[in-house]
Amino acid sequence: MSKIPYKIFLTEDEMPKNWYNLRADMKNKPAPLLNPATLKPMTAEDLAPVFCEDLIKQELDDTTAYFPIPQEIFDFYKMFRPSPLIRAYCLEKKLGTPAKIYYKFEGNNTSGSHKLNSAIAQAYYAKKQGLKGVTTETGAGQWGTALSMACSYFDLDCKVYMVKVSYEQKPFRREVMRTYGANVTPSPSETTNIGKAILKEHPGTTGSLGCAISEAVEVATSTPGYRYVLGSVLNQVLLHQSIIGLETEAALKKYDIKPDIIIGCAGGGSNLGGLIAPFARDKIQGKADYKIIAVEPASCPSLTRGVYAYDFCDTGKVCPLAKMYTLGSGYIPAPNHAGGLRYHGMSSTLSQLYDDKIIEAVSVKQTDVFAAAEQFARVEGILPAPESSHAIKVAIDEALKCKETGEEKTIVFGLTGTGYFDMVAYEKFHNGEMTDYIPTDEELKESFSSLPKV
Ligand SMILES: *Cc1c(COP(=O)(O)O)cnc(C)c1O
Repeated sequence: MSKIPYKIFLTEDEMPKNWYNLRADMKNKPAPLLNPATLKPMTAEDLAPVFCEDLIKQELDDTTAYFPIPQEIFDFYKMFRPSPLIRAYCLEKKLGTPAKIYYKFEGNNTSGSHKLNSAIAQAYYAKKQGLKGVTTETGAGQWGTALSMACSYFDLDCKVYMVKVSYEQKPFRREVMRTYGANVTPSPSETTNIGKAILKEHPGTTGSLGCAISEAVEVATSTPGYRYVLGSVLNQVLLHQSIIGLETEAALKKYDIKPDIIIGCAGGGSNLGGLIAPFARDKIQGKADYKIIAVEPASCPSLTRGVYAYDFCDTGKVCPLAKMYTLGSGYIPAPNHAGGLRYHGMSSTLSQLYDDKIIEAVSVKQTDVFAAAEQFARVEGILPAPESSHAIKVAIDEALKCKETGEEKTIVFGLTGTGYFDMVAYEKFHNGEMTDYIPTDEELKESFSSLPKV
C-alpha cells in the first residue's frame, strides 16, 4: 500500500449523499422532549410556532436512518467540503509516539467551524417553508456567523441576539455577521419583553446564553414569518453534523485504516455526535469496538459530574425540557472560563450513549488545553479554536500513552475550528494570567437543586 498522504480528500462523487440518524440504530432511544406545561412529549404541533416544519420532522424522527441531503444544500457543501482528514505526521514525530494520529478539520470556511454544516441546512428548510427570516442567539459568535452566511445565501433575514459581553469584546465577529447582512443585537436588549424585564431586574448585566435564547425565541414566536434556530444540542443538528463522521468513515476506508480511538470536544454535543455517528453504529451493532471519548472542560463538566435528568434547555425556562446529563440550567461556568463549551447540558443522544457506556468522557483543565493548543499550532500549522483544543489535549495524552506501551494505536479526533477570534484567551495564557476553575461538589449540588421535578 502506498504511503498514506498528509491529507486524505474525497472527490465530490465520494461525498456522502445522505445524513445518518444514529437514533434509528440505538437500542435505547434518547428520551423525548417534554412540554414544560403538560410534561407530555412535545408534538410537532407544539413545536410548530418555534421551529421550521421539516426540521421538526427530523427532530422527532428516531426511526429513519438516512435522510437524503437536498441538492441545494449539497451544492453549498461542495464549496467547503469535503473537509480534509489530515494525518498529523508532524505532531507524531514531535511527540515521538508510535501512534498514528488523524484529525478531521472543519475550520476551512469563514465561520471557522463545523457549525456551517447545520446552519445551511436550517436556512434551507426555513426558505423552503416560505419564511421571511430566522432568529437565534450566539455566545462567542461562531454559530451566529455560520447562520449569517447561510441566511445571506438563501436571502433570508437573520436576527442574532449576541451575549452582550461578547458583542462588546468581539467586535470582529460582530462585523463578520453584519458583512453577511445579519441584524446583531446585544442581549439583554430593549427589543423584547424578557430583555426589558431582565434589564430592569439586573441593570448593567453583561448577559448570558440562556437569556439570549429567551429573547430570540420571543422574537421568533411573536413575528409573523419567523422561526427560531439553534446551533447545537438538538437531534436535527446532530443529524446534519453526521456529514463529518460519514466523510471520515469514507476517507479511512479509502486507505483501509481502522481507528482504535475516536475523540471529540463536547459542548452541546453536535460535532461529537456527528463525528462518531457511523462508528457508534458499528459499535452498537457489534461490528467493531472503538474507544470513543467526549472531552469537556473541567469548569463545565456535564457528562463527568452532571446528573442524568430532565432539565430546562435555557435559563429563561421557555424551551421544552430535555433529558440529559446536566449541571442544572442555572449553572454558569466561572468568569475565568475562556475555552468555550459552556453549555450546562449535553445532547440527549450523547447523554443516552454515555449512559449506555457506548461512549466515555473525560474533563480537562483550560490551562492544559491551551498548552496542547500551542503545542499543536507549532507543528501542525493550524491555529486551533480553544473548543477544538480539548480534543487535541486528549489525543496527545492517548498518543503519549502509546509511547509508553509501544502500541501503534490509530487515533482520530475532530478539529472543529480555528481560533483567530480567541486571541484574548491565548494572550491570557501567554501572560500566565489564565487560571483553572473547577466547581466544588457543594456548588454543583446547589445547582442541581434547581432541576425541575419531573
Ligand atoms: C460551537 C463549537 C464547538 C462546540 O459545539 P458542539 O455542539 O459541542 O459541537 C466546538 N468547536 C467549535 C470550533 C465551535 O464553534
